[in-house]
Amino acid sequence: MGSANAQKPTQQNSADILHAIKKLNVLGTVLYVAAHPDDENTRLLAYLAKGRQYRTGYLALTRGDGGQNLIGDEQGVELGLIRTQELLAARRVDGAEQFFSRAFDFGYSKSTEEALLFWDHEKVLSDAVWVIRKFRPDIIITRFPEDNRAGHGHHSASAVIAHEAFVAAADPKRFPEQFNFGVTPWQAKRIMWNTFSFGGNNTTAENQLKIDVGDYIPLIGKSIGEIAGESRSNHRSQGFGSSLSRGQVMEYFDHIQGDKASTDPMESIDCSWKRVSSKLSIEPMVVQLIMGFDMQNPAASIPQLISIRKKISGTEDIYWKQIKLAEVDRLIQLCAGLHLEALTTEDYAVQGDTLKFAITMNNRSSVDIKLKKIHIGNIESTPSQVLKKNQNWAQSIALPISLDKPITQPYWLEREMNKGSFNVIDQKLIGLAENPPVYEVEALIDVLGEEIVFYIPVQHKHVDPAKGEVFQPIYVVPPISVLSEPSVFVVNKNNPVNPIFKETIIPNTRILFDSISIGNTAWSIRMNTPIRFESGYPKSYSIEMPASEIGNHVEKKSLILQGFQGVNRKAFDKRMKTIQYDHIPTQHYFITNTTQFMPVDLKIAGSKIGYLAGAGDKVPAALMQMGFNVTMLSQDDIVLGKLNQFDAVVMGIRAYNVHEWLEQKHEILMDYVRQGGNMVVQYNTSNNSPFFRDKIGPKPFSISRGRVTEEDADVSLFDDTDPILNFPNKITKADFSDWIQERGIYFAENFKPNYRSVLSMHDKNESALDGSLIVCNEGKGRFIYTGLVFFRELPAGVPGSFRLFANIISNPNKKMNESK
Ligand SMILES: [Zn+2]
Repeated sequence: MGSANAQKPTQQNSADILHAIKKLNVLGTVLYVAAHPDDENTRLLAYLAKGRQYRTGYLALTRGDGGQNLIGDEQGVELGLIRTQELLAARRVDGAEQFFSRAFDFGYSKSTEEALLFWDHEKVLSDAVWVIRKFRPDIIITRFPEDNRAGHGHHSASAVIAHEAFVAAADPKRFPEQFNFGVTPWQAKRIMWNTFSFGGNNTTAENQLKIDVGDYIPLIGKSIGEIAGESRSNHRSQGFGSSLSRGQVMEYFDHIQGDKASTDPMESIDCSWKRVSSKLSIEPMVVQLIMGFDMQNPAASIPQLISIRKKISGTEDIYWKQIKLAEVDRLIQLCAGLHLEALTTEDYAVQGDTLKFAITMNNRSSVDIKLKKIHIGNIESTPSQVLKKNQNWAQSIALPISLDKPITQPYWLEREMNKGSFNVIDQKLIGLAENPPVYEVEALIDVLGEEIVFYIPVQHKHVDPAKGEVFQPIYVVPPISVLSEPSVFVVNKNNPVNPIFKETIIPNTRILFDSISIGNTAWSIRMNTPIRFESGYPKSYSIEMPASEIGNHVEKKSLILQGFQGVNRKAFDKRMKTIQYDHIPTQHYFITNTTQFMPVDLKIAGSKIGYLAGAGDKVPAALMQMGFNVTMLSQDDIVLGKLNQFDAVVMGIRAYNVHEWLEQKHEILMDYVRQGGNMVVQYNTSNNSPFFRDKIGPKPFSISRGRVTEEDADVSLFDDTDPILNFPNKITKADFSDWIQERGIYFAENFKPNYRSVLSMHDKNESALDGSLIVCNEGKGRFIYTGLVFFRELPAGVPGSFRLFANIISNPNKKMNESK
């Protein structure tokens, strides 16, 4: 259950092999539970998995979909995809396994109740119970307490779920439907809370159970703290590059329920083969194997490993049999230096096409190894091939992909989700970090007379001149994907024009049509000439839709490509989304290609906007839909002569956090304001940045951690005659309807009396905050700071956010553009 998906076929050295052999004698299991990717204590996980060599798992209830993204503009489920892969990368370093529930990270939550309500308490509990029944942990450890010392509603809720699941997993009356899928009730010995001291919050105490986890592991050449730091540094989207620590580190545990431990978390749990049977002789065999292991000739250990394998095969404990057989098979492969790969150079497996790939094997030892059978899909061959020492053996396979082979979709995104949770029907997929490999070769291999099946995932490989070999998972894709841009189209009700969108047709294979049409059931444009598509050569069409097709209400229209071949007709309506970063395997997922039409009663004033991108957002595209002409700015453009042409200069999110040079441009920007400009700064974080206090606006103000997380939080207008609320659009409370995820973050503070506040808002049971939108008139111009999350609301087409943002960037010195 890990990520075999885009992993280089790896061979480990003799020290790694010896370390893995030692694990054969350890039969203990620990499950760690928290809410998000990055909540987990990688130091403790590394200690348990690599130091004590237990089977160790981390159940993150969510994929971190609602967090911030420091490396790009992906939000929501896309950020969840990135963080899933970052978490898997972390696990490959610290040696633990990764699980998730169906809970969706909907953003910051102040209470356990809110989190459990959004997630669907029973659903998430069922998932935690399922993971426990499958994984069968001896002990369960939570990162957080069940009360508000956890600091975040998701955190306390994760502890509540873990505690309830500890009890429910053992209860045959709870979630009995799971028993149809091969699990039985499971009672973990104890559940404990791994107390912490961070963020000024110390929950550790000297009367708690404590252990030193700072061991140095000679076979790895690293201290636990070093492994943990390397693991944590994989959370790049969260900016968690970590230093590596050495030396003694204490971890503390507070007892929650079960059999109380006083000296060690695994106290009174038998983690030897005796838990399987008292009569087994496996343990001394492994000890002997360790004693006699020859670093210079690991292959010499294979006969002993085969004997151990036979013994394990004879045990009755299905759980440990399966785990230990997998371990011993991997060890046999490693000791023989047996390289197994199945690689394609094709980008995708296309429905209706053929996937060509090559299986290559090399037995880099003198041990007798014979390949007996290869099996994938409907293809089976029985080469009965002796794998001669250090000789590559290869076979090419052309695998037909049927037209109805499902396209590869992350399993939790296959169905429409609920507000706070994913919908997954197949119980067996629940808990998995990612999809199992789409195509795997089953190779039956005879090693010294023992038949072993090895599973080889088919992967894409290409050689990049800069990065070397790059491996990617295989995706099944449709022959053609389509993309309509923009995906949300804001239509100005006051002056509707025909929406023009760009329809891009992306072929994944060669395909020829007599004619095509683009549109939907009500309306379409047909092109009556033969068109040939070639993989890798997308074609774009500019499509003008009659304004009469757009109603007066919000509407999603599916834009479908139909290809006609004689009497046959094929329809394509899937949009492929791709997320590409160097530190994770490329991720794809599919959505139905739709454009959402959003009629908005909108007026704008001014026309030219200069936009300086910060950490990445999709605000500029929204400004263009409003009718503004947007110029993206760079450092060299921040000179008075260039700025003067703009009706507004807008800073992208966190611009002051990512561009150090902005501090030096402060006077130029203020001159622009004084001479009649309109400068708008979207949120910046206050983290480590006391520096900009006096260097953002014309007068000092600070950025706080104040935020309003409820997207429907009550908003009041301080003065409904304020120009910001009246020109060019009349803003009322109705403009704060239908916002998504949250209202705002990093509000301003200490801004009075130089700035005026426009809005006041608060979460339930919290006091009102007045720093979400502040204005300072300076010279002939105006400066605005806003923590309102326009970067979320505008791309989502929230009408009120368009009207308010139009007022914020419309230059009060310009007459309203009547024609726009
Ligand atoms: Zn968290």
